Amino acid sequence: MSQFLNGALRRLTPYTPGEQPRNQAYIKLNTNESPYPPSPGVLAVLNRAEGENLRLYSDPEAVELREALAARYGVERENVFVANGSDEALSFAFLAYAADGRGVAFPDISYGFYAVFARLYGIPVRQVPLRADFRLVPEDYNHLHRTIVLANPNAPTGLALSRDEVERIVRANPDAVVVVDEAYVDFGGESAVPLTARYPNLLVVQTFSKSRSMAGARLGYAIGDAALIQDLEAIRFSTNPYNVNRLTLRAGAAALAEQDYYDANCAAIVDTRADTKRRLEALGFTCTDSRANFLFARHPAADGGDLYRRLKERGVLVRRFDAPRIGDYIRITIGTRAQMDALLERLEGLL
Ligand code: PMP
Repeated sequence: MSQFLNGALRRLTPYTPGEQPRNQAYIKLNTNESPYPPSPGVLAVLNRAEGENLRLYSDPEAVELREALAARYGVERENVFVANGSDEALSFAFLAYAADGRGVAFPDISYGFYAVFARLYGIPVRQVPLRADFRLVPEDYNHLHRTIVLANPNAPTGLALSRDEVERIVRANPDAVVVVDEAYVDFGGESAVPLTARYPNLLVVQTFSKSRSMAGARLGYAIGDAALIQDLEAIRFSTNPYNVNRLTLRAGAAALAEQDYYDANCAAIVDTRADTKRRLEALGFTCTDSRANFLFARHPAADGGDLYRRLKERGVLVRRFDAPRIGDYIRITIGTRAQMDALLERLEGLL
C-alpha cells in the first residue's frame, strides 16, 4: 500500500475471486460457470466482422441489447440497465442507494462481494442472520429503513425464496430499494422481474455469466422502474459510458435469440444437480436444497479444507467455505455428467 492511498481505503480487504487456474486440465467446479459453450449464434458473432468495428467505441446506450432484453422480459428499454458483469450493476446500486449513510442490509451468509462494496463505499452494514438450515425469513427484513440486498437463490447456500416471499419484503420496505440478485435464478428459482412493474423500489439484477455460458464476456443487467434505471445510468455515464464492449453487446443480443439452447442447458444442469445430490448423499454428505448451478455440501467425517486440497491434487477444483457461523462446507459447481462422474469417483477414493 502506498502512502498516498485514500485513508478510507486503507483497511479495505479486497474481494478474493475464486481460483482461476491457467492450467485448463483441471475439472473446474469452483466458480459456478456453465460447463457448456455459448450457443452457435454467439460464436458466429465473435468470429465475424464485428471485429473490424473494434476501432469504434461501443454504443453507450446499448440500444440493441437493451431492446432484446426488454422483449425477453416483457418490459421497456427504459427499464433495463446493462453492465460489465452483474458485479458492476450491484456496485452501482450500492453507490446509488446506500452510500449516503443510509446503510445496507443483507443476509449472513450471502455473496461475499456485498460486504466488500459496503466497505469500499463506507456504507454501514446490518447483517441479518439466516435461520436454522440457512433459511431466510422474509419478516426478518420488515421496516429496516435501509437498502436491502438479497441473492435469490442465495449464494453459497443455493436456497431460494418464492416470488411471494420476495414481494413481502418489497412491500414491507416502501421507503427503501430492495435489490434482488438473481445470478442463479435460471436453475429453478422464481424471478421477481414480473413484480418490477408494480414496485418502484424493486431492482432485479441478472447475469449472462451462469445460465448463458458467458462469464468471460462480463455481461450483467438490472431491471426495474425507469427512475431506478436512470439513477444507475447517471453513475455509469459519469464513470465509464462504454462499460460494455462491442463484442459483448453483440454476443449478448445473439444469445437472447437462442433462448431454447440455454433452456436445454439449464434443464441438463438441473437434472445433473439432482443426480449429483443423490450420489453425494449416498456417500454421507449433507447438501442444501439448492436451486442454483452448485451444491453446498458437508461431510460429517471429513474436513472441508482437506477435501478441497485432496480433490485439487486429483485434478478437481471446488470451493471451500468455512466461516465459523456456518461450519465446514464445500461448494461444488454442477458440471457435465462426465465431470460429476469424475468428481464422485475421486470422492469415493478419498472418503
Ligand atoms: N451475484 C452472485 C450471487 C454471484 O455468485 C456472482 C458470481 N460469482 C455474481 C453476482 C457476479 O456475477 P457476474 O459479475 O459474473 O455477472
